[in-house]
Amino acid sequence: MRDRPVVVLFDIDGTLVTCGGAGRRAMERAFDEHTLARSTSDFSFGGMTDRAIVREALRRGERDVDDAILEATLERYLTHLADELPRSTGYRVLEGVHETLDGLEREVARGRRIAIGLGTGNLVRGAELKLRVADLWGRFGFGGFGSDHEDRARLLDHGRSRGAAELGVSSEDVVTVVIGDTPRDVSAARAIGARCIAIASGSFARDTMLDADVTLDSMREVRLDHLLG
Ligand SMILES: [Mg+2]
Repeated sequence: MRDRPVVVLFDIDGTLVTCGGAGRRAMERAFDEHTLARSTSDFSFGGMTDRAIVREALRRGERDVDDAILEATLERYLTHLADELPRSTGYRVLEGVHETLDGLEREVARGRRIAIGLGTGNLVRGAELKLRVADLWGRFGFGGFGSDHEDRARLLDHGRSRGAAELGVSSEDVVTVVIGDTPRDVSAARAIGARCIAIASGSFARDTMLDADVTLDSMREVRLDHLLG
């Protein structure tokens, strides 16, 4: 694997940053506007794409899952997210994130073919809002997003294609590494044949992510050989 081009796809929530509940509050405000009972959103959003979260809340609220309502709810969510993020006192970049990105960027500067991107269930605009708070958005050249596909494996595949294009090679020629914090990240990585690093940062215990190639307690423990082999 040493000389093969590598596409690295980072999850956002619970992997790079925690938004201190701003994402959930923004979703719940959007649900409330569509007269869904608050209890309909009483489930873990961890690892779900934004579109899948709205679909599940509509289903639990026994609402018809209508594309127009789904799109309108997502639009309202983005508006509320822009409002919630700047005043979210619990927002923080998780430990080890800057160091991991610095390490990868040093390898790129040395000439290694590595594309550093995102693999996230967030809509692209939501991802940008969440990462701009900490000036992290500009560190990722591309990504696979919840706006690409509702299914996490499919959006990772979009991220891989874009990363391969950035490196000027085809998707078949790259090693893909997915870094995430939920069992859904692990199963989606497996589904596309990617290497997976699971970070048990809080929401999910290590033993729920044993299918990952490497399971760590924090991004602080990530070494370059975990990422690049
Ligand atoms: Mg996550």
